[in-house]
Amino acid sequence: VPSPMAPPPATAPRVRTEAVQVVAEPEGLRAAADALRDEGRVALVPTMGALHRGHVALIERARELATSVVVSIFVNPTQFGPREDLDKYPRTLDADLRACEAAGARCVFTPSASAMYLPGESTRVRVSGVSEALCGASRPGHFEGVATVVTKLFALMGPSVAVFGRKDYQQLQVIRRFARDLFLPVEVVGVPTVREPDGLALSSRNVFLTEPERRAALAIPRALGHAAARFEAGERDASRLSKEASEGLASAGLRVDYVTLADPESVVPITSGAVGDRCLLAVAAFAGTTRLIDNLVLGEDAAPRAEPS
Ligand code: AMP
Repeated sequence: VPSPMAPPPATAPRVRTEAVQVVAEPEGLRAAADALRDEGRVALVPTMGALHRGHVALIERARELATSVVVSIFVNPTQFGPREDLDKYPRTLDADLRACEAAGARCVFTPSASAMYLPGESTRVRVSGVSEALCGASRPGHFEGVATVVTKLFALMGPSVAVFGRKDYQQLQVIRRFARDLFLPVEVVGVPTVREPDGLALSSRNVFLTEPERRAALAIPRALGHAAARFEAGERDASRLSKEASEGLASAGLRVDYVTLADPESVVPITSGAVGDRCLLAVAAFAGTTRLIDNLVLGEDAAPRAEPS
């Protein structure tokens, strides 16, 4: 019988590597967040899965901001319109769990739709103003679905920091607004857009692009880069800046949903006259049937490094 003072056998691991904890029930997330909070600050990274380097950048930022990171993976049905891609949205759970673990997340929350939306549920979070233009106009109900599910996640997490990508710039502003308005104990932090070397913003939907669509999609970072250069050179006319960006997208064969200049805080569009020295340029366009979004805050964000046409 080994003495209690004897060193552990050589085969025993000396450093316990923390495996990621997978939780499917909302109350399990609450308990996990409470337990992790005993060790220090807790961060949440909400995602819809099909994780890519953009999501990993959020997890890495979250690790800088907190002791423990929770990633949620939930394809939220209430933020999809009836004719949108809920059913074919990419789902890669096994690879996602490995990516979360490799990136240093401690817990992954993977609820079912029926766990997040209980039978008889009838509550929605609607944010006026900031959610109305751009994607709010093109996708009725979208931000209500986003605000509702993120409010549920924040309620389960408790005091924490939550990290979101600036690629979904309007979404970030909607979340900042309701977190503040509802006194939620969550600090909301934005992370710059992660791009492919050729400038295309990473998106879970990029897997749907055919080769020619992928090439056409490069018109998006190119149009943003062109606008940034024109802005840098002193152009402030809203209609000229948006017209040039629209033409760039259309001439590559993309179907423009919107090209809008807007106030970066209120997300209220600026359709004519001069824009200020800091201005959101947001675009949404279809490459085939795949809807892509991207944006730049002119006067603040570096232009994407895009290949010439
Ligand atoms: P999604 O899974 O697409 O709903 O995105 C989950 C989070 O990842 C959101 O906060 C997005 O803004 C963020 N995100 C998605 N793509 C990127 C990207 N290319 N760069 C940075 N963040 C991103």
